[in-house]
Amino acid sequence: MGLGPKRRLQALDNINLEIRRGEILGLVGESGSGKSTLGRTVVGLTAPTEGQIKFVSSNDTSELRSKRFGAQMVFQNPYLSLNPRQKVKNIIGEPIEVHHIEGDVHQRVSELMAQVGLSPQFAERRPSEMSGGQAQRVGIARALALSPELIVCDEAISALDVSIQAQVLNLFSEIQEQTGCSYLFISHDLPVVERLSHRVAIMYLGRIVEVAETTDLFAHPRHPYTRALIGSAPRLEAKKLKFEPIKGEIPSPINPPIGCHFHPRCPLAIDRCRVERPALVASEAGHLAACHRAEEVVKLPHPNEAQ
Ligand code: SF4
Ligand code: MG
Repeated sequence: MGLGPKRRLQALDNINLEIRRGEILGLVGESGSGKSTLGRTVVGLTAPTEGQIKFVSSNDTSELRSKRFGAQMVFQNPYLSLNPRQKVKNIIGEPIEVHHIEGDVHQRVSELMAQVGLSPQFAERRPSEMSGGQAQRVGIARALALSPELIVCDEAISALDVSIQAQVLNLFSEIQEQTGCSYLFISHDLPVVERLSHRVAIMYLGRIVEVAETTDLFAHPRHPYTRALIGSAPRLEAKKLKFEPIKGEIPSPINPPIGCHFHPRCPLAIDRCRVERPALVASEAGHLAACHRAEEVVKLPHPNEAQ
C-alpha cells in the first residue's frame, strides 16, 4: 500500500487465537487496532505472515485455513459488499454455483432466504431496493450458503438502525443454534459484545491483550486497556449515563511504541513497560492478559465503581 519494505505496516503482531466450535468469540478494540485485518486473515482474504488461527474442539484441533469453505464473512455495509447489479437470488446462489455444490440451487437459495427471515418475494430484488436490515440478511444468507464452520462478522450490525440491530443479533443466535457454527464477532460496541459473546478478546495495536469468558472479562478485567474500555462504554442506567473517551490517541501501527504498546496511554505504566513486551499469560482460571501488572490490575476497584 505504498509503504516501502522498511516501513511495512504490520497490522497484526504474531497473533495466536483459538476459536472453539460453536462459540461466539467477541473481538473488541478501537478503530485501527487491527480487528478487521484479523477477521480478513481468518477467512483467507489476507495472508498471515506469522501466527495462526486455530479451531478448537475437544477431540480435534485443526487449522482453519486448511478448510476450503471453513470461514465466511459478513461485512459492515451490505450495500457496498453485495453486487448492486445482481438480484438477491443470484447473490445468494453464486457461491453455490461457483463451488459446484451438489443439489438444486433454487431450492437451496429458498432455504437460505427462509433461514434468514426473507420472504420469497425478495428473490427478484436488488440490494438497493431493500432496507439495510433486509440487505444485511442477504449478506448473511450468502455467508451461510457454503455451510461454514465459522462466520466472521465485521461490525455487521453497526451500520443498521438501532431498532434493526436487535433483530439481526437474534438472527445470529438462531443461526448458531440451528447450525452449530462459530462466530468471530468483531465490534467496537462493548455492550453488544457483552450480550452476545461467550468469550471476548481485546485487541490493541495489532496485539491481543486480553481474552476471557465474557462474564469474567467484564467483572474482573486484568488489562488497563480493557478497564479503560469498560469504564468509557456508555451506560444507560439512570443518572449513570457517561462517556469518557480513553486518554490519548491510538499510536500509529507503522511505528508502534516499544515494550507494551499501551504504555503511552496507561495510567499504571512503570519503567519495565517501556522496554519489555508483556506476554499473553493465563491466570489460574485461564483468563489471558498481556500486562506486567495484571495481578495488581485485577485487584483494583471495578472501573464502573472507581472514582
Ligand atoms: Fe500498562 Fe505496563 Fe500493563 Fe502495559 S504492561 S498495560 S503499560 S501496566
Ligand atoms: Mg474495521
